Amino acid sequence: IRQKDEYNVLILGLDNAGKTTYLEQTKMKFTSNYQGMSLNKITTTVGLNIGQIDIGHVRLNFWDLGGQEELQSLWDKYYAESHAVIYVIDSSDTDRFDESKEAFDKMVTNKTLETVPLLTLANKQDLEGSMRVENVQKIFISNAQHLGEREHKMNGVSALKGDGVDEGILWLVEAIK
Ligand code: GDP
Repeated sequence: IRQKDEYNVLILGLDNAGKTTYLEQTKMKFTSNYQGMSLNKITTTVGLNIGQIDIGHVRLNFWDLGGQEELQSLWDKYYAESHAVIYVIDSSDTDRFDESKEAFDKMVTNKTLETVPLLTLANKQDLEGSMRVENVQKIFISNAQHLGEREHKMNGVSALKGDGVDEGILWLVEAIK
């Protein structure tokens, strides 16, 4: 039997963006005997949540890191061992776009992640008043050079409802390989 190819995927974004909900939703969708927590019982990440899914011969190990300002300084400790990054944005919280974009820019300009595939998620698309994915993209991705050579995809999702979650993960698996 062929060994699984294992990859580490970081889930980053501000606190309350929906990272943990997204991780649980992903596990629920890609694990046949899912026994996780109830999605609406999730509270914001303080330490580190981990999760694992298998897709064919690929195993993804997720690290969902806390997004509070004082925890953001810990993100880069994980960069050297990461094979992909998922950046989660709360599309309904436009008041915190500047703060989120600052953290995003700091992450994408880090040399260690230069060639690492990036999936950016405009989350909470189910909420009325959320900014549409095209506009979130305009704000976060300022120009074609901004992200350098890495593979990148921007997706609108609802981590809570599950909409758009599969598509992004399947893209990531292909981009990582
Ligand atoms: P984290 O701090 O980034 O891990 O964020 P959480 O996963 O703890 O989510 C923060 C809050 O946003 C929780 O109340 C979630 O239920 C809510 N939330 C997360 N994703 C969505 C979504 O897609 N839609 C809606 N309406 N709420 C969401």
